[in-house]
Amino acid sequence: MKKILVVLVAAALSWASVAIAQDQPVRSIVNVTGDLYRFQENNHYGVFLVTDEGIILADPISHDNAQWLKGQLAEQFGVPVKYVIYSHDHADHTSGGEVFADTATFVAHENAAPKIAASGHTPVPDETDFKNIKPFGIKKIVSLGGKRVELYFFGSSHSDNLISIYFPKERALFQVDSVAVDRLPYRDLPDYYLSAPNVLRLIYNFIDFKILIPGHGPIGTKKHFISHQKYLENLQMKVANALIKGLTVEEAKKKINLKKYKKWGQYENWRDLNIEGMYRVFLEEEEYLPFHKVAGSYPLSAARNGQCGWVIVQYDVDEEGRTKNIRVFDSEPKKIFDKAGINAAKKYRYIPNNPTKNVKTRTTYELAGICEVPPPRDINNE
Ligand SMILES: [Zn+2]
Repeated sequence: MKKILVVLVAAALSWASVAIAQDQPVRSIVNVTGDLYRFQENNHYGVFLVTDEGIILADPISHDNAQWLKGQLAEQFGVPVKYVIYSHDHADHTSGGEVFADTATFVAHENAAPKIAASGHTPVPDETDFKNIKPFGIKKIVSLGGKRVELYFFGSSHSDNLISIYFPKERALFQVDSVAVDRLPYRDLPDYYLSAPNVLRLIYNFIDFKILIPGHGPIGTKKHFISHQKYLENLQMKVANALIKGLTVEEAKKKINLKKYKKWGQYENWRDLNIEGMYRVFLEEEEYLPFHKVAGSYPLSAARNGQCGWVIVQYDVDEEGRTKNIRVFDSEPKKIFDKAGINAAKKYRYIPNNPTKNVKTRTTYELAGICEVPPPRDINNE
């Protein structure tokens, strides 16, 4: 009898604590620098920039959070929210926009609009018209009260519409879900794209930020951003090698060495999930099999000049599945992507024990929305 009573008390206590946690989410507003602030609802973070003419806000997070925030902003700053920017279409970051619909214009990448329209969790963006504005890479500028925010899209990393939200005066970058500070990527990499390492490299090469503000976890620096990019590149390469060797996902989890990152947050919990997720992404992208193909890094001068193109490299494949005797067969425009093509081909891996001569592979280099990839030549050269 006594035993049952104890159990009941414990159960009642745990219910009580859950109820409190649900009723009172952790919310805060913290100044990042200058007029830039970060706000929090539990594990999610958004940002806003205050100007004399109103507020530019990114990611309202939830309906309840947006209502709380609207009250706080009116009280502390006395200006309305004029722009709501969505980092990407995922509802856990962008719900609650309707709270600001009386005063705000909504901005997102064009790929986010149909997804938001279909789910109906927040108002559909009014502005999705990212343009090529010189210097390269500034895809959309939102300005208000003499201040500005720059929105960039270099390709798919996490979702096909996640943008980089940059505050140039503050040299701060709000980058949601595709990076974290000294923490592994989330669980099994939901909505991950294999282009992520290349996209992240373009971001840190082109955007002159010092402060990194992720959508989850603590604020960091450009150094943290680069470390995260390296982790993804590493994980991707190791999983590709495991696939080529024909390892099952369980064997790969035992073989792959990521110990360098064991001090990072969630290493114990998410390491195996990261490997499982990368397996899933590779197997969904058929063009990466049976061999591992990487695009290689985008030549910076070509990216600055807004140049797209392609290169066909030719090579032999040895017994171990490695590429040998690599040379350029054709390219357009001439020379621009040759070195990148050769460097990438050095990393290609084929299934072993099937040596082949004179293999040709065409790789395209494309900057979404900036330039068109020139068509292949008419002659049958592929
Ligand atoms: Zn997301």
